Amino acid sequence: MPTAGWRTRFAPAPTGFLHLGHLVNAIFVWGIARAFGGRVLLRVEDHDGTRCRTEYEAALLADLEWLGLHPDEGSLASYAARHASDQHSGEPPRHSPRHSPPHPLRQSDNPDRYAAALAVLSERQLVYPCICTRRDIAALAPRTPGEELRYPGTCRARALPPDSTLARRVMLDDSVEHFDDLRLGPQSQQPSQQCGDVLSRDRHGGWTYQFAVTVDDFQQHVDVVIRGEDLLASTGRQLQLARLLGRPSPPLFLHHPLLVRDDGTKLSKANNDTSLRERRAGGATPADLFGEAAYLAGLTARRRPVAVDELPALFSDRLLSDRV
Ligand code: GLU
Repeated sequence: MPTAGWRTRFAPAPTGFLHLGHLVNAIFVWGIARAFGGRVLLRVEDHDGTRCRTEYEAALLADLEWLGLHPDEGSLASYAARHASDQHSGEPPRHSPRHSPPHPLRQSDNPDRYAAALAVLSERQLVYPCICTRRDIAALAPRTPGEELRYPGTCRARALPPDSTLARRVMLDDSVEHFDDLRLGPQSQQPSQQCGDVLSRDRHGGWTYQFAVTVDDFQQHVDVVIRGEDLLASTGRQLQLARLLGRPSPPLFLHHPLLVRDDGTKLSKANNDTSLRERRAGGATPADLFGEAAYLAGLTARRRPVAVDELPALFSDRLLSDRV
């Protein structure tokens, strides 16, 4: 691990209520940070304005508070207070960050940050407008089921005028990205073969996950990215994007196991998996939920309550790579 004071982040998207899958991520983030001298940033990943809702942001802040998971930066307390007064005044919940105190760790409050990063890449002639839809790309680049959609670079050669669309892609080169995952060991990925040129802004002007997260991890000095294995395939492209943006040294990565349902599919709010607040309403305590998530993630040998103060001990008593 880096020297004391290193930074990691908990970065949920407020598109639903937190569930056990998020809790596993939080256990890894806070447990490892507290065990090894790191600091936790709370980042609200609401880059997708069509799916994010203010009420989910307020709920996730309240859930973290109830669980006893306190970020070292980005508590957004002033925002939560404002939302409470909105509710008091009877206004409907909305995702309208411009009406709330802007926060440096809420993505939708900081579009200029992403625009400036894109300008850096444009200056280097690495950006081009793209008018291809997902359907166009799927037709051009057939794939086997489960395989990622790879952009074949059609608009690279089209030299479209900038005002033809808001969508922009960043040119990737053919380099192979190597990184040593703190849990999974050495990894190699070739983003140009996995996904092709990365979409940074969509045709509606929305910043994409890949672009926004890379800019934020760079600008917020995130040293260690701790997240689920479902994002493992994104890491190579984020490493390459970060380098193109001028990040001098890449972050470290740890991808943890995901909780899966009995049929092997990932837990998600889209599938109405039980939220932490429903479990709380049913009488569960934070220690019950930490215990259940830790057990299901393979961090404890048997199912037992785990207090928030015990989270570091799940990681600190062995070398990280042996443990998780
Ligand atoms: N916002 C993403 C999510 O909720 C996490 C992104 C990341 O950790 O890179 O799944």
